[in-house]
Amino acid sequence: MDAMPARSRTVTVLGATGSIGASTLDVIARHPERYRVHALTAHRSRETLLEQCRVHQPAVAVLGDERDAAWLRQRLREAGLATEVLAGAEALVEVAEAGEVDVVMSAIVGAAGLLPTLAAVRAGKRVLLANKEALVMSGALFMDAVAGSGATLLPIDSEHNAIYQCLPAEHRGGLGRHGVTQLLLTASGGPFRGRSGAELAAVTPEQACAHPNWSMGRKISVDSATLMNKGLELIEACWLFDARPDQVQVVVHPQSVIHSMAAYADGSVIAQLGNPDMRTPIAFGLAWPERIDAGVEALDLFAVARLDFEAPDEEAFPCLRLAREAMAAGGTAPAVLNAANEVAVAAFLDHRLGFTGIGELVARVRDARPVAAAADLETILEADGLARQAAHDWLNRC
Ligand code: NAD
Ligand code: MG
Repeated sequence: MDAMPARSRTVTVLGATGSIGASTLDVIARHPERYRVHALTAHRSRETLLEQCRVHQPAVAVLGDERDAAWLRQRLREAGLATEVLAGAEALVEVAEAGEVDVVMSAIVGAAGLLPTLAAVRAGKRVLLANKEALVMSGALFMDAVAGSGATLLPIDSEHNAIYQCLPAEHRGGLGRHGVTQLLLTASGGPFRGRSGAELAAVTPEQACAHPNWSMGRKISVDSATLMNKGLELIEACWLFDARPDQVQVVVHPQSVIHSMAAYADGSVIAQLGNPDMRTPIAFGLAWPERIDAGVEALDLFAVARLDFEAPDEEAFPCLRLAREAMAAGGTAPAVLNAANEVAVAAFLDHRLGFTGIGELVARVRDARPVAAAADLETILEADGLARQAAHDWLNRC
């Protein structure tokens, strides 16, 4: 039987209405004695947030703008709920660093997650990191903040959560020190695995968002289809596990049952397996170092029957290479890559850019923007803003 926690933990869910946010609330609802929700945040999905407030009764709810916040305030008052409703980016920071909060789930999509996630880190919280873009943008600064504040950073991205589970408990200070030779980052290959560059030119947002194994938000679904998601994850792995890019090998594994692996000097390879359901890493992060029920079915190996592996096709999917190069270039290069990709994915989802145009746009912005040392947050945010501008300029010229 589960040992009872000493006291219940108070949780802020940033990006509560998204795919990860909803899965987080699903796990929390299974363990009311363990977790209490302090704050839920959303950008525009006010109806979903209202429903979540009814169920979880947080102290605070945050929406992107004051009009939506006023709407939610009114509905909550009518429902007799005392939830305080705030609006805007500063309110996200406020609920991430609030004194009464123990755990922050960072599940906003994109660069918008950076400031509240950093605030949670600096406040020394247990930070469950789903928002990979924040770490990609600010790598060294982010990890220094973790070390400086004593925050507990637990990766939620399934691959990094798997690697975390496959590494020795104390793995800071370089992989080699622990006899780890390589991190094997598995990739499903996305919905277009096996297609040539020419075949990819005409694919639609709807096809790109129909992922074979995972149900996710639209931005990460497109990233999975271009393999930019794997590229961002390669950068994420380098920062989380103090690895060099050449120590991270991407392995296409279409069944998405092995979530990633660590290879050791003695020839051992340790893998973490499970059904592709984000509630597993989320429950891991919430309960660590304990284990709790996540609502996920046990893995049926007879039903899985076989596990396949192949090398990624970097010709047809150049985004993986672009990300590796950005990591090797260092400084603001990953922030520029991420910003250009966010603009490109939004344009693709909006039918203003073709699928293969995503990699092309990212490469063009990379070529147009100089790499600077990512010395402070201002420099990183400036590089992000100028890269977005360069991406928009290029889109407007097409
Ligand atoms: P989603 O699009 O389903 O949800 C995004 C959430 O962020 C929503 O609550 C939305 O309201 C909020 N949001 C969007 N823009 C915002 C803004 N400008 N300001 C404040 N809030 C904003 O996304 P998701 O699939 O849940 O992914 C969330 C993050 O987790 C991403 O960084 C993604 O890469 C990462 N991730 C997701 C999965 C997955 O299975 N979905 C797996 C691994 C990592
Ligand atoms: Mg992942």
